[in-house]
Amino acid sequence: MADRIPLALVGIGKIARDQHIPSIAGGDDFVVAAGVSRHGKVEGAENFTDFNAFLAARPDIKVVSLCTPPEVRFDMAKAAIAAGRHVLMEKPPATTLGEAEALSELAAKAGVTLFATWHSRFALGVEPARQWLSDKVIQSVSIVWKEDVRRWHPGQAWIWEPGGFGVFDPGINALSILTEIIPGHIMVETSVLEFPENKKQPIAASIAMRTVEGAPVTAEFDWRQEGPQTWDITVQTNAGELRLSKGGSELYIGGNEQASGPDREYAGIYERFAKLIRSHQSDTDYQPLRIVADSFLCGERKVVAHFED
Ligand code: NAP
Repeated sequence: MADRIPLALVGIGKIARDQHIPSIAGGDDFVVAAGVSRHGKVEGAENFTDFNAFLAARPDIKVVSLCTPPEVRFDMAKAAIAAGRHVLMEKPPATTLGEAEALSELAAKAGVTLFATWHSRFALGVEPARQWLSDKVIQSVSIVWKEDVRRWHPGQAWIWEPGGFGVFDPGINALSILTEIIPGHIMVETSVLEFPENKKQPIAASIAMRTVEGAPVTAEFDWRQEGPQTWDITVQTNAGELRLSKGGSELYIGGNEQASGPDREYAGIYERFAKLIRSHQSDTDYQPLRIVADSFLCGERKVVAHFED
């Protein structure tokens, strides 16, 4: 316990409670020494309601983990970096590429670690999928990411506001896996974004992309799926089919299961964060955010039925 790095957890909401707190407690690297949230608290830690007050009061806590929604991330990350703290950011790292890139530059100048996390990249099947695909010819990729927003984002009004990402909040998880397992850039060609008449962000998106080599990549994101939920990526290659199911936690090659086991996504995130801090490195890959931005740039807007969540 004595060797653990003290950390402040910021934005004590669903993901902080469901994943960050138990994963930090179950790992060897960090201890939650402070919580920073206007309403939420971390048991057994010193709690603050204001981020700048925390930065001023606890200069001894050199590491912050930002679990707030993306629209408040830039100001918090900028203040933390300026105060010499190492920063972990939940996904999506910021509301725009401009903000994200500015943060990378600020962290590099300040000599602190900045880790833009993509939790789905730590799902069990993703690294073996990347390795298997590395010497294959990619013929096509199909992503189907359909879930029930009422079940996974109850009461999260911010997610429907500008900067909240709408259905791209889960969709960016699929894009983070895509950009991890497929080498090279992926370019958006067309997209259709469905906006409920009463919402400011899309509830569904259909995106057509292409790899640099020309292989088609499609993504179907939908937040209206009740019943069984679908988080699948299927890749056709010159050596057969690879499929990642259940958000990357199950891997099938040629229909045969290759990897499965308990979820270690957030355990993996904190192990990597500790390594980055110890080796004075940052990890900021903004490719998933770029595909979201390009989907909005190329997006045809369709107004669909009123939706109450
Ligand atoms: P959440 O339940 O709404 O929690 C976020 C917390 O941030 C809130 O409880 C709030 O706590 C604080 N906050 C600070 N400024 C805020 C603002 N302007 N608007 C709303 N809340 C604000 O959201 P979440 O699901 O934990 O998601 C947080 C981040 O984690 C998002 O970027 C999301 O994409 C990511 N994430 C979520 C999931 C998931 O399954 N939910 C999974 C992976 C990643 P106070 O009111 O106490 O300040």
